Amino acid sequence: MMPFTLSRADDVSAAVTQGNRGPGTKYLGGGTNLVDLMKMGVEHPAHLIDINRIPLATVEENANGIRIGALVRNSDLAAHPLILQRYPLLSQALLSGASPQIRNMATVGGNVLQRTRCFYFYDPTYKECNKRLPGSGCAALNGYNRIHAILGASDHCIAVHPSDMAVALTALDARIVVASSSQSGRAERSIPIANFYRLPGDTPQIETQLKPGELITAVDLPAASPQSRANYLKVRDRNSFAFALVSVAAQVELEGNRIKDARIALGGVALKPWRVPAAEQALRGKEAGAAAFREAADILVRGAKPHRFNAFKIELARRSIVRALSTASQLA
Ligand code: SF4
Repeated sequence: MMPFTLSRADDVSAAVTQGNRGPGTKYLGGGTNLVDLMKMGVEHPAHLIDINRIPLATVEENANGIRIGALVRNSDLAAHPLILQRYPLLSQALLSGASPQIRNMATVGGNVLQRTRCFYFYDPTYKECNKRLPGSGCAALNGYNRIHAILGASDHCIAVHPSDMAVALTALDARIVVASSSQSGRAERSIPIANFYRLPGDTPQIETQLKPGELITAVDLPAASPQSRANYLKVRDRNSFAFALVSVAAQVELEGNRIKDARIALGGVALKPWRVPAAEQALRGKEAGAAAFREAADILVRGAKPHRFNAFKIELARRSIVRALSTASQLA
């Protein structure tokens, strides 16, 4: 691990002021991903700002829905009564991720910013990785690309986003609240999660819309319909402590046996949680059942491009979508 300096911030203003120290400055929350990457020699920040003392660890109801503080631990969020009662999709997604010990440490803000688990990104002995070394190439393109993307990738990067929580947040129309500091004072902005993550294009090293020095302070969720039912289905190589090959966050609202509303987001298939509004539109008004679910699945994976070792993901995604929607509709 490279040497670094450490400071502490007790409130958001102090954190974002310190965050303006320039490139090489990072915020430290639970550290479950960042410290890992520092030990592996992938990340080498010159300065860390410990934000754990900032009071951002609450879940609060407001007129529009709920606000989840960026420092709420994943375990606490999964077990929070408001989340269990109104956003079970989020609780299921959180509990499918990592291990209990990691969930006890990992924060909401850090989970949103998790970096890909591409083998070649994680191992600096590989010299070809445009995400780690821009312009160096992509070892995964012709390498062992079983876990890699089938949607939204480019010739510069075929990595996938690893978070389960972000897939559920995408289906739930979350907004990411960020703070920054400038000469005119502290500023705040709110970014729809659908726009927060970037596809790789020719700059895979730029993963989100965050600007230098910006700090995630909260995640906002709009009010949930009490009639909606949810299922988070995660398909992986082993039953715990593994990243998704494919995951599906599905939420449906039925009127009788007709679909009034549906939301579907996929994980493990692209560098951002994958949501296609046309698939949800195709479900509205249809009878809940395999035929409608298969049609939505076909729309969601339309344009999928497999690589040498991951063609199986296309059919796996289709079947997983049908199963998650069936389970959410209580037909399975
Ligand atoms: Fe790097 Fe992306 Fe290629 Fe993986 S897929 S080696 S992260 S450029």
